[in-house]
Amino acid sequence: MSGLYIHIPFCKQACSYCDFYFVTRQQHKQDFVDELIREIYSKKETEFTEEAVQSIYFGGGTPSLLTAEQVNAILDAIRDVFDTDLKEITLEMNPDDVSREYLAGLKSAGINRASMGVQSFNPELLKFMNRAHTSQEALKCLEILEASAFRVFTVDVIYGNPGQSLDVLEQDLDTILQFNPPHISAYSLTIEPQTRLGKQVELGRLTPPKDDTVSDHFDLVVDKLAAAGIQQYEVSNYAKPGSEAVHNSNYWSHENYLGLGPGAHSFWWNDDRKSATRWTNRSNLNAYLNGDWKEKSDPEQLNLPDLAEERLMLGLRTKKGLSKEELKKNYWFEFNERQLNYLQKLEENGKAKTGARIHLTREGLKITDSILLDLVTMT
Ligand code: SF4
Repeated sequence: MSGLYIHIPFCKQACSYCDFYFVTRQQHKQDFVDELIREIYSKKETEFTEEAVQSIYFGGGTPSLLTAEQVNAILDAIRDVFDTDLKEITLEMNPDDVSREYLAGLKSAGINRASMGVQSFNPELLKFMNRAHTSQEALKCLEILEASAFRVFTVDVIYGNPGQSLDVLEQDLDTILQFNPPHISAYSLTIEPQTRLGKQVELGRLTPPKDDTVSDHFDLVVDKLAAAGIQQYEVSNYAKPGSEAVHNSNYWSHENYLGLGPGAHSFWWNDDRKSATRWTNRSNLNAYLNGDWKEKSDPEQLNLPDLAEERLMLGLRTKKGLSKEELKKNYWFEFNERQLNYLQKLEENGKAKTGARIHLTREGLKITDSILLDLVTMT
């Protein structure tokens, strides 16, 4: 079973922290949809249509800048080209695009999971992030969602912003919880060098919050959501039992996925199941509109040791972790002496559990990135 990722590269404005591929001009949306449909048809009767698609994810950019009719046309093309056994069709939307009619249109097009990019309800934080929506629109979109036919949805929230207090974060979580969401993604703000925030930090105009502050935010999110029955199942993802995201879970367990649209990533196992290919469509809308999606740009060949390392990094970001047996059987991987000692130390410090399955504890998950970096550089 595979997943399809569809990249919609349009945004109203640039959020200050964002390093995804997007354009802020709004022309050529229909041309883009036409080209995307051509790209979908180019996959007909290829290796990518040999297994059934179980999840589709419209990400971006801002997919909700497309009309429901355009989304429907894209889904029609997918159903025509791919064998589907769909469990989940998610579309990311921004609060300022949501209306009753729009949600109804998406629902009848086949979207069954709404991903709402709220991030915060706090006006200063929304301004700091340069989000296109207001605090009122963030609230209104959830009211509209609640009254809609969407029972499956997720809400995005960002913590660890410079100057964000625990009170402000708690108010944001309280407001979201009033709508009884089955799933929440809570991201710690990452300051990437090429973004507006990155530049401000470089110029010394902005100071990122201290690690202790971010750690307090993390604790608040985990505890508050757990008290509402929404459990952490990955570093940034929380769900009621049974509401975990199908599409993202497939990424973490190394299933095949095909990305369509400019800047979309793909991952596909080779026939021998001992190697895989990863590639990225060119991040250039003009080139895409001229049909330059046909070639895989710089495909990267991953051998079993590469894949083992990657599976380790993805698996340890999840609460359930991964089994040594799986690493051995599927990737011919066993930890070396240094790695075993390191894991032992993590266990003694309460940061990991290392039986037949290895997983990070809550304290370990707070510093996942540095643990993973340590582990993979000990080869
Ligand atoms: S709306 Fe999303 S993709 Fe667009 S700039 Fe903001 S964070 Fe980035």
